[in-house]
Amino acid sequence: MTGRAGIIGFPVAHSLSPVFQGAAFAAAGLDITYELWETPPGSLPARVASLRAPGTIGANVTIPHKEAAAALVDSLDDAARTAGAVNTIVTHHGRLSGHNTDGPGFVRALRDEASVEVGGSRFLLVGAGGAARGIAFALAAAGAARITIANRTAPRAERLAAEVRATGYGQVGTADLAAGLSGFSVIVNATSIGMAGGPDPDGLPVTLETATEGALVVDIVYRPEETPLLREARARGLPVLGGLPMLIYQGALAFELWTGQPAPVGVMFESARASLEDGRTLPR
Ligand code: NAP
Repeated sequence: MTGRAGIIGFPVAHSLSPVFQGAAFAAAGLDITYELWETPPGSLPARVASLRAPGTIGANVTIPHKEAAAALVDSLDDAARTAGAVNTIVTHHGRLSGHNTDGPGFVRALRDEASVEVGGSRFLLVGAGGAARGIAFALAAAGAARITIANRTAPRAERLAAEVRATGYGQVGTADLAAGLSGFSVIVNATSIGMAGGPDPDGLPVTLETATEGALVVDIVYRPEETPLLREARARGLPVLGGLPMLIYQGALAFELWTGQPAPVGVMFESARASLEDGRTLPR
């Protein structure tokens, strides 16, 4: 298989995706190049249209284009339609299908890297931004026992809960973090707190004193790989999962959509970790 793919975003220069997708194509023996497609908002329609050209297998889409891209493709999968956002486009004979692998990548990371099945788990999801949205819809689709959303701007959490409920999933609500963390089997930080270069790199999105013994603490922030929240969780003896697995599995699902082959996940992790340690890339 030959061809080209790339990532559409603005700014996109420091994305990790070219590192691990390039490594994956090489490891799979595929002659596919993966390019950085820096795309200011006004150029998005032309950029997406260019994916119809022969030889292009598709693209990833990142900030700030995920919602706008959903209106520019020919069809949407269920995850993209529900989330109203596309992070992967597949080109097939000049037609473009839009997919969302962010939430499904999170679910696969939980299963493959933390041995957690979504069905039967009770989730506290902290945050209601773009990443939290993808996760909330994916957890609902995967049959979570309960999803509770808490966000600094409470009406945003309430809106997201209502949207998830509108998909036919009833076990979703909102909470104030002051009410404590007992009863949750998985606690997820989907805010930017703890992210290097973000609004509060040294902060904690939740305090863990009231967490149930054995609760899994997940931080979707992946730079640094060990965030203050994960350090705090480890110190309390709680199991943890960092953000890199979600990033890798959303990419692995995209790779599988483009190529029809299983993604070489180990190679993707290795190359991403080497690049993060190198400090050459910034958050996607
Ligand atoms: P976003 O749409 O801008 O949402 C940011 C969220 O963080 C909102 O819920 C916001 O609350 C909250 N927040 C920001 N600063 C805060 C503060 N000081 N105190 C309390 N809450 C605060 O961003 P996003 O795209 O969802 O990304 C969020 C994080 O996830 C980023 O660090 C990003 O790198 C990471 N991420 C990781 C992956 C992965 O694959 N691992 C994928 C996507 C994103 P308000 O609503 O109150 O503003």
